[in-house]
Amino acid sequence: MKRPDEEGARRAPSPGTRPPRRAPRVGVLSLQGDFDRHRASLEPLGVEVVRVTLPRDLAALDAIVLPGGESTTLLRLLEATGLRDPIHAFVRERPALGTCAGLILLARECRPLPAPPLEVLDVAVERNAYGRQIDSFSAEVETSVLDGPFLGVFIRAPRIRRLGEGIEVIARHRGEPVGVRSGRTVGLCFHPELTSDSRLHRWFLGEVAGLDVPPARGPAPAAAASPGGRGTGEDHP
Ligand code: GLN
Repeated sequence: MKRPDEEGARRAPSPGTRPPRRAPRVGVLSLQGDFDRHRASLEPLGVEVVRVTLPRDLAALDAIVLPGGESTTLLRLLEATGLRDPIHAFVRERPALGTCAGLILLARECRPLPAPPLEVLDVAVERNAYGRQIDSFSAEVETSVLDGPFLGVFIRAPRIRRLGEGIEVIARHRGEPVGVRSGRTVGLCFHPELTSDSRLHRWFLGEVAGLDVPPARGPAPAAAASPGGRGTGEDHP
């Protein structure tokens, strides 16, 4: 039994007191690819990270991250798990960040793929356009949305070959677009989760998704200038 004063307090909060706000809830598609590294970038920003493997995992998410992996496999797994339609509906309405294969999933055009991509970001991308695994590299990326360059880790990365109308380029490497935004949808050719620099995750949550994230403290981490403690040596597709 609740005490009457407890009930009363809940029904009529005294002026100035707000109910505690829940932490923003961000899903990371976890069919294949780097769930843990995205989680490690997101959790320190005060969000609850949800592993998305089934349609029901999308309930009550404020935003979603589609990680890297192998886009052909991801598309097949989306079909097999029944996630394709619910994810499609989600990314049409809600904030989404796609990294590498995640960008391919969000793009309007990319061929050949076993199924059409989700087509919410009006760009054409070419898969593996920097070469093979051995041609993977890290390089400084210029961004228009951060206070300084960002270290981009490119692993069998796609290249953006066409920009549709209304697509904002938010990152470039050697003048070429490697990060794009259209409204609440963001796609990156590289892997921000593979450095310990969470500025792009923070920007996505705060500026793109409009979620409450604590303000950045101090200068960008040293790892902005090197691949950082979390390493880059994984065998990505
Ligand atoms: N080469 C992969 C593809 O085409 C993407 C690689 C990645 O996500 N790191 O799907």
